[in-house]
Amino acid sequence: MKRILVSGGAGFLGSHLCDKLLAEGHEVLCVDNFFTGSRRNIHHLLDNKNFELLRHDVTHPLFVEVDEIYNLACPASPIHYQFDPVQTTKTSVIGAMNMLGLAKRLKIKILQASTSEIYGDPEVHPQPESYRGNVNTLGPRACYDEGKRCAETLFFDYHRQHRVGIKVMRIFNTYGPRMHPNDGRVVSNFIVQALKGQDITIYGDGMQTRSFCYVDDNIDGMYKLMNSRDGFTGPVNIGNPGEFTMLELAQLVIELTNSKSKLVYLPLPQDDPLQRKPVIELAKKELNWEPKVPLKEGLVKTIAYFDSILE
Ligand code: NAD
Ligand code: UDP
Repeated sequence: MKRILVSGGAGFLGSHLCDKLLAEGHEVLCVDNFFTGSRRNIHHLLDNKNFELLRHDVTHPLFVEVDEIYNLACPASPIHYQFDPVQTTKTSVIGAMNMLGLAKRLKIKILQASTSEIYGDPEVHPQPESYRGNVNTLGPRACYDEGKRCAETLFFDYHRQHRVGIKVMRIFNTYGPRMHPNDGRVVSNFIVQALKGQDITIYGDGMQTRSFCYVDDNIDGMYKLMNSRDGFTGPVNIGNPGEFTMLELAQLVIELTNSKSKLVYLPLPQDDPLQRKPVIELAKKELNWEPKVPLKEGLVKTIAYFDSILE
């Protein structure tokens, strides 16, 4: 049994990770400042004797004793990370330094939740880990994209300079139960709009693509990466290579919810990537991982979740 720190543990992915680690028999220290996370996500864990919750902002140093760290703290939805962009960069960069400092002092492994956003608006398609990206350093997404890029740099420098054991995971769009209904990301927006019979908001012409991974597949990949062979650092893409336009997603959500919602077209946000699809050969080879849940099946489960909380 290990004692494992999950920063951002009250968020969407973090709360599913806490469930997984507890199910594997570990103790979990969940660290979160509740900026986008919620107590509801971890409410069912509060009575578990192996679960401990600490309200803390990772931009401040933390002195605890643990055996492993998963660093997930950071708002992931564009509307939330753009709400206070300076804080977003601080969370990614200073948060990473604080978590890496802890890992260095304790001589333990640390996993970073990085992102496909480090590829920016990609000129190479699909995106392998070797692609260096096309990020606008000055735009509204830069606080997140550049913050995450700098965090990757810090991870590799702590590894080279201080021999810290690192695992860097590049997560592509992930969806599922416990996304916040007002999260602003496309899957939750479309489902909530469809269930409420509101207009479905398509940004731009809806022909931009994303590859959507169901949360259970993501958490399986994250756990396998943390427990991968010594010396394997990544970065490794974890995502579902199925590629869909936003129009296709909207149509699928309308069909699965039996909704009468109509589509409305709104301006495409600045720097919105036009396409995104992971190459996952490295994850297959190193982690023996590939996603199992097709989009339709994952959407059915996610719709059932939103249906229950909107009632
Ligand atoms: P989320 O917003 O639901 O969760 C982030 C959590 O971090 C929240 O609980 C929030 O309160 C917490 N947090 C934010 N700033 C903090 C701070 N300064 N100190 C302590 N806690 C803080 O987002 P998510 O989808 O669960 O994403 C988790 C991680 O995975 C993030 O690092 C994100 O960048 C990364 N990621 C997610 C996706 C995705 O599609 N879900 C894609 C790429 C990367
Ligand atoms: N999007 C949309 N309508 C919405 C929310 C998002 O058309 O109500 C689009 C958005 O412009 C982007 C895609 O859906 O092209 C994915 O957006 P999201 O915010 O989920 O993730 P990211 O852009 O970070 O991949």
